Amino acid sequence: MSQVALPPLEVLLCAPRGFCAGVVRAIDAVEKALARYGAPVYVRHEIVHNKYVVESLKQKGAIFVSELHEVPDDGAPVIFSAHGVAKSVPGEAASRRLLAIDATCPLVTKVHREAEIHHRRGRHVILIGHAGHPEVVGTMGQLPEGAMTLVESLEDIARLAPANEANLAYVTQTTLSVDDTREIAEALTRRFPQIVAPHKEDICYATQNRQDAVKFMAPKCDVVIVVGSPNSSNSNRLREVAEHMGAQAYMVESAAELRPEWIAGKKRVGVTAGASAPEVLVNELIERLKALGAAKVQPLEGITESVVFTLPRELARR
Ligand code: SF4
Repeated sequence: MSQVALPPLEVLLCAPRGFCAGVVRAIDAVEKALARYGAPVYVRHEIVHNKYVVESLKQKGAIFVSELHEVPDDGAPVIFSAHGVAKSVPGEAASRRLLAIDATCPLVTKVHREAEIHHRRGRHVILIGHAGHPEVVGTMGQLPEGAMTLVESLEDIARLAPANEANLAYVTQTTLSVDDTREIAEALTRRFPQIVAPHKEDICYATQNRQDAVKFMAPKCDVVIVVGSPNSSNSNRLREVAEHMGAQAYMVESAAELRPEWIAGKKRVGVTAGASAPEVLVNELIERLKALGAAKVQPLEGITESVVFTLPRELARR
């Protein structure tokens, strides 16, 4: 029996994808600290949510810890991750005279400052975000206990019972779904018409651009593969956006996780990467797709990003 030849598999390569300016700065901070102070350099929590990045920094001499009590008092620096930390963390580092280097992304710091200003003006702050994510823990920790309330869903809004409905403001996590957050923000404003919104979107440019790019690419694909770690918020959102646009969508930490059955019989596979996923992992995924029959790789045109952040001030000095 003669077999019908299937059309060759084509790969669309999303743009922009992968590293954002905050991630580049945080990784640079660890590398620069290693070069300046020598190993070991302690890093509180994963510097960015990517196993490959964390493992490569470990090999260069970084030691990742969960809390500051694991850092010895021997003069070695300790770096705070791009996700930001509660105020108590630099406080504890200062009281122990640790050499602390803050690699919090400046766009997360912007949200911290907004929350502080609202608090100073007597407003109760609502944070739209995901419980337990380190960025949310850090942002909640900018204000005294009880001064901020976390909202994760539309259902949470119905449960809110603020002491003064006329004195509310909201801020958001930087890596949320643009569409879901708009819905939650609109519902908040409907329920509390006087609530103060951020002057400028808290969702960062990198999250917005990567989601927009997936919205453009996904309708052209049967399957979308996102390179990212399971604990990476923005990578998870990219997978969801692709799914909402009608594509099958999967997330992989490495090329080895790609299952051949996901692409069997498919015509077009879209590839993108979360803001903490390095390009080397994208290249490995492309090679595996080629080995599984992809005949053509078409890079898509996307917005050019020019955002660059300077290093934390402790490292920017000579
Ligand atoms: S995803 Fe956005 S907020 Fe997070 S590190 Fe990157 S630029 Fe900063």
